Amino acid sequence: MRLSRYFLPTLKETPAEAQIASHRLMLRAGMIRQGAAGIYSWLPLGLKVLKKIEQIVREEQDRAGAQEVLMPTIQSSDLWVESGRYDDYGKEMLRIEDRHGRQMLYGPTNEELITDIFRKEIKSYRDLPKNLYHIQWKFRDEIRPRFGVMRGREFLMKDAYSFDLTEEDGRKSYNSMFVAYLRTFARLGLKAIPMRADTGPIGGDLSHEFIVIADTGESEVFFDKAFDALDPMIDAGAGDDLQPIVDEWTSIYAATDEIHKPDNCPVDASKLVTGRGIEVGHIFFFGEKYSAPMGASVQGPDGETTNVQMGSYGVGVSRLVGAIIEACHDADGIVWPESVAPFKVGLMNLRAKDDECTAACDKMYAELTKAGVDVLYDDRDQSAGAKFANMDLIGLPWQLAIGPRGLKNGVVELKNRGSGERVELSPEDAVTKLTG
Ligand code: ATP
Ligand code: MG
Repeated sequence: MRLSRYFLPTLKETPAEAQIASHRLMLRAGMIRQGAAGIYSWLPLGLKVLKKIEQIVREEQDRAGAQEVLMPTIQSSDLWVESGRYDDYGKEMLRIEDRHGRQMLYGPTNEELITDIFRKEIKSYRDLPKNLYHIQWKFRDEIRPRFGVMRGREFLMKDAYSFDLTEEDGRKSYNSMFVAYLRTFARLGLKAIPMRADTGPIGGDLSHEFIVIADTGESEVFFDKAFDALDPMIDAGAGDDLQPIVDEWTSIYAATDEIHKPDNCPVDASKLVTGRGIEVGHIFFFGEKYSAPMGASVQGPDGETTNVQMGSYGVGVSRLVGAIIEACHDADGIVWPESVAPFKVGLMNLRAKDDECTAACDKMYAELTKAGVDVLYDDRDQSAGAKFANMDLIGLPWQLAIGPRGLKNGVVELKNRGSGERVELSPEDAVTKLTG
């Protein structure tokens, strides 16, 4: 993509409304613009990152055996009356009346709708287990939308729902999502720690929040350093017993301030790391909470009808864009992990008025593009300093600068945004390095 044609409205000044780094950088890097409080438009650079995160989330859901569906954003209130949540949900739910006077709502989550789909189609234990997920916009009329996409009102969520015959099978579904989440966040370049979460009136130990450690996180967290020694890229196949892996991860102490009681903590609280964290995912097994009131049951092997055991599993896809930036930035701008970077390489023509230099840049751009490398090519007639600053701000993993001085010696300059390391090498070697 040539920058001269790309819609990338970057800002030099720090926007006054942004309190935290990720919000500031997303506005400055031209990734998002606010439409109304907590409601954003995604501009090309931001949307590219959002899509990459979405794809990694999708791949890990698929790998874990979940199947993608797409439910609507607008739901009928009837199902929520049935589950008993229509009144409970309160003001966070955006309620809408259609032209016929029917009560509708913009879905804040999808337990009711998926349970309705399930109960109409699945009647036998032979069709279990099932895990269905979608990646869809949600609306919650948050009392205090803030921090940009971190706590929006409209936000993109991946939500999966598992259906099993027995509690034991439900635990297996839970475990497979637990492992999928560890892998997902690791692939996104994040260190996310599963922390025991409140299960409310349902009880049990099957609820975990996945938390990324960052100073700007909304909750205070307490955890054991032992997590550092564990590898989240668990390579288990379908059908493997995941219980030992989940046991290993959940035996290490980690809790948010909602759960942690310093005086009543199973480990020596003074040895724990204290910090702040951002919740990027939440998994929850809740048994018959929805299947019982909504009548989602199947016929078991003994011919008896039983309510299915359910769990739900959320990932804050749009929140992750902010969380990744919180974890990956420096004073000059964003430092994207390669897996979610909007482009791999930022190619800079340091002297756009120089025909020879421009020809060398065009050639480089063509070669990299042909080799399948996603390049953002700054072909504009601007000062080298402005170009470098802009590339640092948008945080592409590799910066390739081509100027007349280097070309005279047959070299171009390649900088790694993360390490800051710069090397001079021949254009051919640069291509090899970036395509290898
Ligand atoms: P929180 O405690 O942050 O309000 P929640 O418990 O209400 O979150 P869930 O219902 O578990 O959230 O939703 C699943 C995921 O969706 C969360 O882990 C979070 O990453 C994301 N999420 C929830 N609310 C928002 C929001 N207002 N803006 C952006 N992402 C959100
Ligand atoms: Mg939660």
